[in-house]
Amino acid sequence: MSAPKYHLTSYGCQMNKLDSELVESRLRQRGYVAATSEADADVVLLNTCSVRQHAEDRVWSKLGTLRVRKRGQPGLVVGVLGCMAQEHQRYLLSRMPHVDLVVGPSAFGDIDQKVDAARAQNARIAAEREPARTKHEVAGAGVVAVGDGVSGDRIVRDVRVRPHRSQAYVSVMRGCNMPCTYCIVPTTRGDEVSRPLADLVEEAQRLCDDGVTEITLLGQTVNAYGRDLKGEHATLARLLRALHEIPALRRLAFITSHPNFLNQELIDTLAELPKLARYLHLPAQSGSNVVLKAMRRGYTVERYLARLEQLREKAPDIELHSDFIVGYPGETAAEFERTVDLVQQVGFAQSYVFKYSPRPGTLAAELADDVPEAEKERRNAVLLAAQEAITARQLGALVGQTLEVLGEGESKVDGRLSGRTVHHRLVHFDSRDAGVVGQYVPVRITAALGHSLVGERLADDAAEAGAHDRVEVQPS
Ligand code: SF4
Repeated sequence: MSAPKYHLTSYGCQMNKLDSELVESRLRQRGYVAATSEADADVVLLNTCSVRQHAEDRVWSKLGTLRVRKRGQPGLVVGVLGCMAQEHQRYLLSRMPHVDLVVGPSAFGDIDQKVDAARAQNARIAAEREPARTKHEVAGAGVVAVGDGVSGDRIVRDVRVRPHRSQAYVSVMRGCNMPCTYCIVPTTRGDEVSRPLADLVEEAQRLCDDGVTEITLLGQTVNAYGRDLKGEHATLARLLRALHEIPALRRLAFITSHPNFLNQELIDTLAELPKLARYLHLPAQSGSNVVLKAMRRGYTVERYLARLEQLREKAPDIELHSDFIVGYPGETAAEFERTVDLVQQVGFAQSYVFKYSPRPGTLAAELADDVPEAEKERRNAVLLAAQEAITARQLGALVGQTLEVLGEGESKVDGRLSGRTVHHRLVHFDSRDAGVVGQYVPVRITAALGHSLVGERLADDAAEAGAHDRVEVQPS
């Protein structure tokens, strides 16, 4: 009998993609193989995200398609994993009889057994020769685990399952204890749970033994890492220092940081450790104290800027990335202008801008969503334009420089390769040698595009010059 085939689609953030790698790792260990397409799969899994409405809409639409397909293929197993499984468990159970598995993000540890159970259940239904659909409609989802299963963090990761040979993500913690009013993450992912420091070092070592040279640590508030590990004195700074000791590791990054946990210990670590990537994702969300207070972010603009000043004093080459929400309930045009001012004052290297949309179950969803859609669109466009002008200036200043680029793969720009600098800048470069994927190569920057750079790879003997290039981009 041939091995059962699965197809897994990930929606949403990087954390979800890593969860998907862990789920795949588990399935492969149990003898499942990846299907070449969704149509070819015996098991279709959707690893979902609730943070934005758009991501949810895509999943509902996909479930509609799968409902039709399952009518002709009753043995097909359909699974909803991740945040929507947690958030919409009751709806999925009562209204989606074609869904066989509903598994929340804290219950991935024995996902392979859950998939097996769902397949066995469908096989039983078929063997009983009962109309499969009717039975499913009565039973609802067959296998459900949203918060009481075995945590994915207890999976011993198969380090061979990863999309890039030289790069890997490592999840250092789950959940979030912060009270941001607009955010569904504390509901879907639960309280902060940090993984033991020794486990993380061991996993990173195994990844590096298997060829990884760049690791990005993931956490919703990654710089709060360790505060729930009583008695271990684990902090992000200590973890970074421990990982820095792995000889094969060349680059180490971490996302996403909360401004309240950017402390002196972390700043000193950023300043001292040469392998640390030179960017920090530190979402400000708004430039208005009124809006920040309404969002319950726990800091003021002044405090945010004071932290940045401390950082720039010690590590001036760190570039800053941010997220912003425009059109939060009650945000006036004048308050929005303060956000534009903040973007210009800090000179972020990049910002993700989101129009506010209420997420059911959050505190903000109980407020009147009173900024009209057209005004949200306008604010979105204004803030993006402000950010793009800054990005264009910063990228333009890099033309003529030689930067070290980690080759990642084929570029979307005509027949080139692409890679990232230590500042996380995307570079498209000419190289006839596909062997540079996974290698650190010197690239002379020849042009700046809207959000990326174009360059030409230099000969290897220029590597030494490029390897230590750290271009400081001054805030505008
Ligand atoms: S810090 Fe706030 S926005 Fe970020 S995950 Fe936690 S609750 Fe959500």
